[in-house]
Amino acid sequence: MTAEPFVVVGGDAAGLSAASKCKREDPDREVVVFEKGRWVSYAHCGTPYFVKGEVERLTDLLTLSPDDIEERGIDLRREREVVAVDTDARSVTVRTPAGERREQSYSDLLVATGAHALTAPVDGTDLDGVFSLHGLDDAAAIRAALEPEGEATPESLGGDGYVDRERVERYAAWAPPETVAIVGGGYVGVEMAEAFTAHGLDVHVFQRGDHVLGPFGEAVAERVETELREQGVTLHLDTEVDRLAGEGRVERLECTGDTAIDVDMALVGVGIRPNVSLVADTAVDLGESGAVAVDDYGRTSAEDVYAAGDCAEARHTVTGEFDWVPLGLTANRAGRAIGQTVAGDPKPTGDIAGTAVVKAFEQECGRVGIVDHERTREAGFDPVSETITTASRSGYYPGAAETVVSLTADRETGRLLGGTIVGTDRAAVRIDTVATALEGDMTVGEVENLDLGYAPPFSPVWDPVLTAAKVLNGSLDE
Ligand SMILES: Cc1cc2nc3c(=O)[nH]c(=O)nc-3n(C[C@H](O)[C@H](O)[C@H](O)COP(=O)(O)OP(=O)(O)OC[C@H]3O[C@@H](n4cnc5c(N)ncnc54)[C@H](O)[C@@H]3O)c2cc1C
Repeated sequence: MTAEPFVVVGGDAAGLSAASKCKREDPDREVVVFEKGRWVSYAHCGTPYFVKGEVERLTDLLTLSPDDIEERGIDLRREREVVAVDTDARSVTVRTPAGERREQSYSDLLVATGAHALTAPVDGTDLDGVFSLHGLDDAAAIRAALEPEGEATPESLGGDGYVDRERVERYAAWAPPETVAIVGGGYVGVEMAEAFTAHGLDVHVFQRGDHVLGPFGEAVAERVETELREQGVTLHLDTEVDRLAGEGRVERLECTGDTAIDVDMALVGVGIRPNVSLVADTAVDLGESGAVAVDDYGRTSAEDVYAAGDCAEARHTVTGEFDWVPLGLTANRAGRAIGQTVAGDPKPTGDIAGTAVVKAFEQECGRVGIVDHERTREAGFDPVSETITTASRSGYYPGAAETVVSLTADRETGRLLGGTIVGTDRAAVRIDTVATALEGDMTVGEVENLDLGYAPPFSPVWDPVLTAAKVLNGSLDE
């Protein structure tokens, strides 16, 4: 048995996947997980649906309870923030809730500290009623503010024993807001537009660029923008928010230029950054993206120190280079692989393809690979794209809906580089076909010849992805 434990910093997707896998592979190994908060093993991804009210209780968003984790033999220490790493001494410094500092030695260390929400460059984000959504306490505070005055409690929200009680009680005392501004039209902004609309709010989305959902490309964005408008959301595209203003509580949003609107709540969702301050001045190098640089096994530049999840880079399957695409499966998968490696059976963390799906009211959107022509050129490709609109099922079968697929390939080699999809009828899951083709380095011609399933209730004879490949393949020949 190794004398010092495998120490994990961060008790969510990457951290607990690693801890669980290591313990399963090597039950005698001591595994200690430090988590600075009270929540562990929670689903960030479900928080918009908790705010909406579709998910009733915060605890529904937990995969494992602290008791489940302890039962796995993992030494879980909540409310313990790791504040320093000494890679020479092979130890971390941990701060207790009482403010004491304790040293903990490690044999192997995993940094799984996630990301943090950006609020800059908007001023006034410290006002009451301005939120970001990064964690269950944020979700609880937002939902408390939306419920009828005085109704929400930590218990009614299902957060008893974990949630930031003071914050919930403060926002529960609010009269429900009527107008909300969402700063940022990324996937969190779009999901939250749906959540706020469900509560009857007048929702305004402010987006600096000319389209929402930038990484999903224009074809998806245009459909989503139409959907948002049809659902009553006011879109302010090409609009830069300057500041949020008010006396203690947010009352107004001001944009560069003349636009200003009165609001009584705001959500700032302008992106995230890797949470790397813990390793900033250590032997752990950062990559170009600002996230922790790792190899194919999640190893950092410091001996026996690993990193995984939103704080770390991963190898991109299209470019072959390391990149930063913070998503849930990436974190779980890398964590699990590192757990196995630390247990003595090395396993690569796996490439990423940047596969992402999001729901915008009725529209389901998917994207994978590289779809932006500038980025594909930077990566050394000569991009050609085609966009098709087709039916999701045989046209005569009830429920068939328009599905828009865009595919991008390299002109010279025909290699598929990326794709996007949007539609109301099971569109999002179809992106997985494109993701599988990317992982297999397939050409568009090979995608066109895939033997995909067909029956009228599920697909037209030519699945939408096949039709897009057929059209793009034709363009490559021109
Ligand atoms: C609103 C929202 C919706 C999302 N929806 C999706 C989705 O639909 N699909 C998808 O793929 N991804 C989605 N994501 C992203 C996904 O949740 C993340 O990729 C995933 O949670 C990353 O896991 P992680 O373990 O790296 O980081 P986290 O889940 O952020 O966990 C990191 C943990 O480390 C702890 N920590 C940090 N520093 C320290 C320290 N010094 N000491 C001790 N503990 C520390 C933190 O408190 C935190 O609990 C969403 C994210 C958000 C915010």
